[in-house]
Amino acid sequence: MAEPFVVESPDVTYSKDFIEAKYLYSTTQVSEENGITKVKPCATRLTFRTERQVPKLGVMLVGWGGNNGTTVTAAVLANKLGLSWMTKTGRKHANYYGSLLQTSTSCLGTGPAGEVYVPFRDLLPMVHPNDIVFDGWDISSMNLADAMGRAQVIDWQLQEQLRPHMEGMKPRPSIYIPEFIAANQEERADHVLSGTKAAQVAQIRQDIRDFKVSSGVDKVIVLWTANTERFCDVRPGVNDTADNLLQAIERGLEVSPSTLFAVASILEGCAYINGSPQNTFVPGAVELAIQHRVFIAGDDFKSGQTKLKSVLVDFLISSGLKPVSIVSYNHLGNNDGRNLSAPAQFRSKEISKSNVVDDMVKSNPVLFGPGERPDHCVVIKYVPYVGDSKRALDEYTSEILLGGTNTIVIHNTCEDSLLAAPIILDLAVLAELCQRIRVGVEGEGEPQPLHSVLGLLGFLCKAPLVPEGAPVVNALFRQRAAIENLLRACVGLSPLNHMQLEHKMQ
Ligand code: NAD
Repeated sequence: MAEPFVVESPDVTYSKDFIEAKYLYSTTQVSEENGITKVKPCATRLTFRTERQVPKLGVMLVGWGGNNGTTVTAAVLANKLGLSWMTKTGRKHANYYGSLLQTSTSCLGTGPAGEVYVPFRDLLPMVHPNDIVFDGWDISSMNLADAMGRAQVIDWQLQEQLRPHMEGMKPRPSIYIPEFIAANQEERADHVLSGTKAAQVAQIRQDIRDFKVSSGVDKVIVLWTANTERFCDVRPGVNDTADNLLQAIERGLEVSPSTLFAVASILEGCAYINGSPQNTFVPGAVELAIQHRVFIAGDDFKSGQTKLKSVLVDFLISSGLKPVSIVSYNHLGNNDGRNLSAPAQFRSKEISKSNVVDDMVKSNPVLFGPGERPDHCVVIKYVPYVGDSKRALDEYTSEILLGGTNTIVIHNTCEDSLLAAPIILDLAVLAELCQRIRVGVEGEGEPQPLHSVLGLLGFLCKAPLVPEGAPVVNALFRQRAAIENLLRACVGLSPLNHMQLEHKMQ
């Protein structure tokens, strides 16, 4: 397979099946001895091995008939078919704006005409979104064309062109346990599985197998973009270990639909991604994924207000300013907003949104004493008229020099699902790529898969799930650098350090 570029280095080899890169990974260890802080630079020789063969990828969405589910399906079809449509501001053409992998770039190096940039998708062999085959489940029986109309996200002329391609797409019946989502969703639930929890998990597993056979895809990834559930209690004996979780399903104890889907996917060997805030990944689900060496990632798409927060607070704190109060109001009128108008579901979102500044606060002991953090308040209101066009109003107040204050107010209006759809694509494409990457310390046996808890996808998640004991990073550009530098490492390129010494030395 031809890559867009070839790295010429004695440390990088291209075989028919793999790209293998030898890589010097530098870290720094800090220790305290007799009151002296000792800092030790360390370097480890690693081998990265990436499979070159890109599989045919199937993505199964839980909540396929929702705003995100229909929008991502429509976006891929519009791109694949090369569609364009008229709006009152002129002709629009299908694109993948908002996708880290498709429409953002990395600096490959310097050429005769200056810096050379390539899209992330060219750094390694990856699935192209146009080639993804979609399927999924929904508790609403509506076909995808009608559901796209219900969502009111896509321009009408584009909907008309897409309708013939989407009306034959029908979600599979899903697992519905009313107490996990808002009572106001009940009228939508006309397409639900019956039987015991164990029987429903077996049906989801069968659906995954059926889809694989009927579509001819090589791999399936399952992604939850259904409604936000309330948090479930983490209870010893129920969901604290993999065995207890499997037994809880057999015994019909409380297990949320999203966790039932996670279990079904893991047992089918399919990566499972959680795009909503609830605690799907109870300890038993995490342990099950590790046991089966299956990737899990989440939680909650980082699309709008939180994404901006993870840039703005990073900017303030890394400039030496001290944010002391962060207040965020949202109102939205789509079905997600309707579901979130119920207190238990709002609470899941509130928790997911509230920890986003923690790593940045912790990184600066000059500004923040032990346990000190800014006041942080999040409000979400349901206002049907604005539909999917979510409004977010944020006020950031910081203490600045000599007791001064600086207040920044931001008003953000944006169609939520048009931000979430490219994130869904990036999550699936990156998770698939990670399944083809192996890494190991040179001389210590064969390179191994990455950890089952795929923290690398944190850039795309509001509340990144990381392996136990690993630090959580929320700062957006640190998260982006982690992805960029890992992809570069796989082709033997050093991390970007932005020093540009060649232009700074005499
Ligand atoms: P939506 O209400 O339009 O779609 C959710 C769909 O899930 C609906 O069609 C509903 O019928 C279905 N559903 C509910 N429970 C189900 C179950 N148990 N099994 C299968 N289907 C089920 O919502 P949306 O705007 O598409 O958002 C989806 C999720 O993504 C929400 O939880 C939201 O909080 C989260 N999210 C969205 C964004 C964004 O920018 N759009 C950002 C972060 C998180």
